[in-house]
Amino acid sequence: MMDHQSPPNIQQLLYDSLEKTGDCVGIFDDQDQLIYCNEQMASLFGQSINDVKGQTFAQLVEYCYLYNKGLVIEANNIHEWIVYANQQRRQSSFRNFEIDLHDNRWFLATERVIENNFIFFYATDISEKKQTEQRLKLASQELFKLATTDSLTDSHNRRYFLEIANIELQRNARSGNDCSILMIDLDHFKSLNDKFGHQGGDLTLTQSAKTIKDNLRPYDIFGRIGGEEFAVLLPNTDLTSAFDIGQRIRNAIEEQTVDYLAHKIRITASIGASNSRENELSLELIMSRADTNLYRAKNQGRNKVVASSE
Ligand code: GH3
Ligand code: MG
Ligand code: MG
Repeated sequence: MMDHQSPPNIQQLLYDSLEKTGDCVGIFDDQDQLIYCNEQMASLFGQSINDVKGQTFAQLVEYCYLYNKGLVIEANNIHEWIVYANQQRRQSSFRNFEIDLHDNRWFLATERVIENNFIFFYATDISEKKQTEQRLKLASQELFKLATTDSLTDSHNRRYFLEIANIELQRNARSGNDCSILMIDLDHFKSLNDKFGHQGGDLTLTQSAKTIKDNLRPYDIFGRIGGEEFAVLLPNTDLTSAFDIGQRIRNAIEEQTVDYLAHKIRITASIGASNSRENELSLELIMSRADTNLYRAKNQGRNKVVASSE
């Protein structure tokens, strides 16, 4: 006689698998009572399996909210949150959402409305994927900052200034607006360096950049485009206003004192301004005219603003 192996009990196998899986599995009945769940599912509500069974969805989430365990629930009022959640829960036969826990785990949850308006709930641990995503996001923000920022003055660097000033110029031209450019160069900076040393020079650069920024509007675009040279794009600004803004900046730099060791460092700046003529689209051209005016300001004795469309 051959031994007959009894066929595997599939239902038992399935049940055992659900108990052991690292995923969360649970079933809510039509009254929203949790009538089945595995250990992992119980941990979503910060409790043991024996404690959660028979509780309603509302009771479970209220416990999480009150004791800061299990699910993170961002709400000012938990009862309003539950009303809102209940509106979502049986709205469609299937939904998919991410949840995070107080212990920093993340789950991708699915809810399926099954027979008799019961809900089959299933959630997979995606903590590792979330952490990787988070790290990549931070790394790419860091890279972006490194690539676009001048670290000394925490301003846009030359490349990024040109990129966004160009976009802003085109955008203004489409709306029929003029833009102006200021080119700002600190006066006799070489001798300041010679007198106070590189560190004193650096501090003067940092403080001057801040002084310029403090005298701009939030939508003006500012960048450090060279050693002691800065540029500003003034959107929707005519040459007369650009000259006034230039004077305000020139004056503020003249007024500032930079405290370095026992010194009170003073500096002035020369500024050249120009504007976009009749929707002219070349940032390069406007900048080179502003540059010409900057050299005129230097030739007229420095600490001056020269503005012209020529
Ligand atoms: P002018 O009034 O004609 O502009 O004279 P200037 O001395 O400012 O002009 P010049 O271009 O001859 O000198 C600029 C100096 O800026 C030379 C350089 O050593 C200094 N410099 C450039 N970048 C930095 C920096 O990051 N830190 C410091 N401390 N100095 C810098
Ligand atoms: Mg200079
Ligand atoms: Mg210079």
